[in-house]
Amino acid sequence: MFNMESTNTYKLLLALLVAVAFGFSSCAEDIVETDEELIPYFDLFAAEAAKRGITVDYEAARIEGLFQDIGGGNTLGQCFRNSDKPRKVIIDIDYWENSSEPEREFLIFHELGHCFLDRDHLDDTKPNSNVCVSIMHATPQSCQFSLTDENREEYLDELFNF
Ligand SMILES: [Zn+2]
Repeated sequence: MFNMESTNTYKLLLALLVAVAFGFSSCAEDIVETDEELIPYFDLFAAEAAKRGITVDYEAARIEGLFQDIGGGNTLGQCFRNSDKPRKVIIDIDYWENSSEPEREFLIFHELGHCFLDRDHLDDTKPNSNVCVSIMHATPQSCQFSLTDENREEYLDELFNF
């Protein structure tokens, strides 16, 4: 009898410890932490948003950015939209290391278009052309696109004022 009781007490203690440990680990997961290399690009998105009257607070919005080897296929970046954990912008590390500054900016703008602005894809083209109207086009094959000094403002206006 005594042994049974002490075993049950032990089990109860163990269950409590496990519960406490889980509690702590889920707290740790809730911290929004963006890879240092991505922060200047996240800041750029926030600055362009601010110019257009939109306040971006990644902590409050619970959005973080991370590198991963997404590998196989043509996925350069992803936005994981999740209600209870931070939303994650995942950038393919190989693509990032081999891409130009405008390509990097485009990718971050696109993924934060999903993660922060909640935008979906838009493959529309400009009249009588194959040129994308939006940074939010689905794939490089959807329409013709490159971010240049000339079209930058127009594309950013479209991104934030959809
Ligand atoms: Zn997309």
